[in-house]
Amino acid sequence: MSAERPTTPAPSELIEGGGRLPLPWLVAPLTQALAVARGHHALLLRAAPGIGARALALSLAQSRLCEAPGPNGLACGGCASCRLVHAHAHPDLFVLLPEIERRQTAWLIGEDKPEAEEGGKRKPSRQIRIDDVRVLLDWVTKTAARGRGKVVLLHPAEALNAHAASALLKTLEEPPAAVQLVLTCSDAMHLLPTVRSRCQQVVVPPPGVAEAAAWLAAQGVVRPEVLLAACDGRPLEVLACQERGVDAERWAALPAELAAGRPGALAGADVPLALQWLLKVCHDAMAAAVGAPGRYFAEGAMPDGLALAALNRWHRELQRLALAAEHPWHEALALDALVSGARLALSAPGRRPGDMAPNPSRTPSRAGA
Ligand SMILES: [Zn+2]
Repeated sequence: MSAERPTTPAPSELIEGGGRLPLPWLVAPLTQALAVARGHHALLLRAAPGIGARALALSLAQSRLCEAPGPNGLACGGCASCRLVHAHAHPDLFVLLPEIERRQTAWLIGEDKPEAEEGGKRKPSRQIRIDDVRVLLDWVTKTAARGRGKVVLLHPAEALNAHAASALLKTLEEPPAAVQLVLTCSDAMHLLPTVRSRCQQVVVPPPGVAEAAAWLAAQGVVRPEVLLAACDGRPLEVLACQERGVDAERWAALPAELAAGRPGALAGADVPLALQWLLKVCHDAMAAAVGAPGRYFAEGAMPDGLALAALNRWHRELQRLALAAEHPWHEALALDALVSGARLALSAPGRRPGDMAPNPSRTPSRAGA
């Protein structure tokens, strides 16, 4: 069990560093997106989660606003404009994120308060709401302050709720002159067709395993290929794992820990993340039960004697819970119940794991109740 905390910088620190783009797999897409942006006022960057869509959008915005861009059009990283972007203080850049991400990254808007002042009294929204879009629409009409136009960065567009997306449509269709919109999304099918059709789309391919592993190794990640498999090949998710203290060793030990009734790497995870990881354990356990190779864990990570029927029941239960992942769980109780369910499915074939799992319709465990 590794007790040592990793020293890797937070993904946001890494990917917003100094105007350069330290994520090597995004350099080519950035050049492409810049070329497309010259002819279109609204861009939709389509990228899998965890590969740096926000960093790419920000580099694009910074390059558009840079006062001394290089011959390739990329931001210089040192001019007054670049420094303002870096300080989250550029008057002609509006970064619109879901509230939860605004607080994590300090890209605050309107009446937002910094994390320290808010004091965790209220759970921040994972959506981009109509009030957020109204702050943006008010900003869009103002004249550019530094003479290089204005840029709106909206990430991710899937976070727009229906009202917010409708409110944004008119601006997408007829933006005021010299306003560039940069939207990101991982699944364009989750966007209103009217939003999708008003944007020029740029597809950002994920990095290859070797490229991602080499980059992660340079960030100090040990055995990066283990966590890359765990995270579907998404390098920034690997860094987030590492930040939580989950390294390759703890990940590999997770199925055995769960079979013994211990949370292992799940300790401290919130319910949505715990469910995501349990679904991965369950997937590979089902594969192991029929003698197939796993996808998220190396060979030999699963306990012996797995019973497919119990795993099938567990899988259905996890899927049902995943639909209610945003329910205001009592996190500690819910995690206990999830670990119990995992233990039953992985170690005691024949019993009903669902009996131990939390149920949003009957568990009196709302936060604060
Ligand atoms: Zn610059």
